[in-house]
Amino acid sequence: MTEGLNIDLHTHSCCSDGALPPAALVERAAAAGVQVLALTDHDTTAGLEAATRRGTELGVLLVPGVEISSAWRAQSIHVLGLWIDPASATLRKALDAQSARREQRMRNICQHLTRAGLPGTELLRAVQARAGIATRAHLAAAMVERGLARSTDDVFRKYLGRGRAAQIAAHWPGIADVVGWIVAAGGVATLAHPARYKLSAGSRRQLLADFAASGGAALEVVSGGHAAHHIEACARWALYAGLAGSVGSDFHDPQLSWNPLGRLAKLPDGVTSVWRDRLV
Ligand code: AMP
Ligand code: MN
Ligand code: MN
Ligand code: MN
Repeated sequence: MTEGLNIDLHTHSCCSDGALPPAALVERAAAAGVQVLALTDHDTTAGLEAATRRGTELGVLLVPGVEISSAWRAQSIHVLGLWIDPASATLRKALDAQSARREQRMRNICQHLTRAGLPGTELLRAVQARAGIATRAHLAAAMVERGLARSTDDVFRKYLGRGRAAQIAAHWPGIADVVGWIVAAGGVATLAHPARYKLSAGSRRQLLADFAASGGAALEVVSGGHAAHHIEACARWALYAGLAGSVGSDFHDPQLSWNPLGRLAKLPDGVTSVWRDRLV
């Protein structure tokens, strides 16, 4: 019986762009009442070992996960791999390639910042100095720290966002490849925060059909970023596409209030849970 379990299958640690080290994330989740927790850092599994160890100590069941950036048409789409084997050779090779893509993109972005009159070389060094995976969120933080912008939103508005000097398209792998890696690693491919993508109704239907056809198994119906009407829409999409449903906060930082741990809405009735055959 999994009814009534407090489950969160989407969180980040400082191994990617989360604020907390993996063990501290698990402690916070345990204190918030979470019983089953997936750590799903962007394009890395580096935090899983420490999170699992702390989970064992605190009685939190750790689901090994990852959130992989992919492309579908011109859109960046995030695919969660849940219950992956982090030792899978296919996955290891794929995540190494993702890391190289991120480094290349960050160098490119910083060159554009230099051309725009900003200290691009210094910013690149600052981003590269940290241990985890480098995301644009880290670059934005380095820029805010140096007084080059007021906030992360301000950085995206002025420099990194659409039509700005350092907006560099990422060359992410196609969604079918990403789903294939997750499946090869024994994982369940789950489309993250489906209501967040700006797609027409027709394009979204096609995305869901392509995702399911390539081996995708679930949609994140309940997400920290989803309002009640998004949850209802995602439940309909899951049923329409024959996909299971997942729940995840997308927690990054205790200071961000929109996606706290341990307070997720219930998966709507009628949607098959992604954990049905995994948690008994
Ligand atoms: P990346 O994976 O390198 O493209 O970085 C994505 C991260 O940048 C996200 O996880 C957000 O934290 C942040 N981000 C992306 N777009 C925006 C935006 N328009 N405004 C604020 N933060 C953003
Ligand atoms: Mn993130
Ligand atoms: Mn995401
Ligand atoms: Mn996420």
